[in-house]
Amino acid sequence: MKIAVLPGDGIGPEIVAQAVKVLARLRLDGLKIETETAPIGGAGYEAAGDPLPEATFALSQQADAVLLGAVGDWKYDTLPRDSRPERGLLRIRKGLNLFANLRPAILYPELASASTLRPEVVSGLDIMIVRELTGDIYFGQPRGISTLENGEREGINTMRYSESEIRRIGRVAFDIAMKRDKKVCSIDKANVLETTELWRQVMIEVAHDYPAVELSHMYVDNAAMQLIRAPKQFDVMVTGNIFGDILSDEASMLTGSIGMLPSASLDANNKGMYEPSHGSAPDIAGKDIANPLATILSVAMMFKYSFNDQGTADRIDNAVKKVIAAGYRTADIWTAGTNKVACSAMGDAVVAAL
Ligand code: NAD
Repeated sequence: MKIAVLPGDGIGPEIVAQAVKVLARLRLDGLKIETETAPIGGAGYEAAGDPLPEATFALSQQADAVLLGAVGDWKYDTLPRDSRPERGLLRIRKGLNLFANLRPAILYPELASASTLRPEVVSGLDIMIVRELTGDIYFGQPRGISTLENGEREGINTMRYSESEIRRIGRVAFDIAMKRDKKVCSIDKANVLETTELWRQVMIEVAHDYPAVELSHMYVDNAAMQLIRAPKQFDVMVTGNIFGDILSDEASMLTGSIGMLPSASLDANNKGMYEPSHGSAPDIAGKDIANPLATILSVAMMFKYSFNDQGTADRIDNAVKKVIAAGYRTADIWTAGTNKVACSAMGDAVVAAL
């Protein structure tokens, strides 16, 4: 198993170091894991003048899976758009054809009080958000800012999806639902946007191949509300790139902290890039206080989806459950009466639990 390790910026290197400790522990048990590290994002720009240096992309292409920290820092906000860290992320997702982004939002019972919602609203929560990752308004052409004849500036982005793009993400969502509670809720804005009217039509067609799965549809504005009002009504939610970006961050807060949420981004052959759902958190970078659990749980997803090794995935998930049950908390999930630990100490605790 060759893993490209891309720590990135901000808290990226701190949280990825904890996941690498987990990999080192698994290696001791005989798993044949090789890792190679390369810069991406702001670190890529500093090293090679490019947020996705050629060598980083080549390494990621050759690897069996990619482990990513996070990219971005406010200090790069004034760079031309193509040189900014986030562009490196969009390019690697597109370049590796990682069209399916899986973001589970699971609430650990011990963290119910860390959520800003009432415990009875969130306890037992287990949602899988399936977000399309390589299309939609984030990639559609034409795009840009131009000046009109009257001298006024105009910004343009284009929301577009082809039928085949919708169909393949639909199949991913239905396949996952078959292994869960067999419910798919497709999120769109079909009342206003033609792109998502097509989305809805294609989802209905895909559903014909999965008679055991119940398909429902919801407008994105209502979905944003329902996620807060009654989140446990959802099993699998499937949606496009921009709606999924927003809804998955919203769902993260149901679980107490975005620092708990892993993600997997897969291509058609289940090669994947694994990363926490959060960003580089420049506000807490370098302080050893970030929560590394989303990154460690992303490694569990790597074993499940790319290495087809459910046993190791469960082992990592259980180690995380154990440290949570034992009261270890980073600052973002700390509540009175629990044991506040640093990022590195949380990594050590997971390794010990393994
Ligand atoms: P963010 O997710 O980095 O941070 C949002 C808030 O959550 C901050 O208060 C931060 O301290 C906190 N937080 C995030 N991860 C945490 C963790 N593991 N433990 C504890 N607290 C955590 O989002 P932002 O502030 O909007 O963006 C910061 C930078 O990250 C920007 O440059 C943005 O473009 C980039 N970004 C990158 C990704 C990615 O790499 N996938 C995703 C989102 C944002």
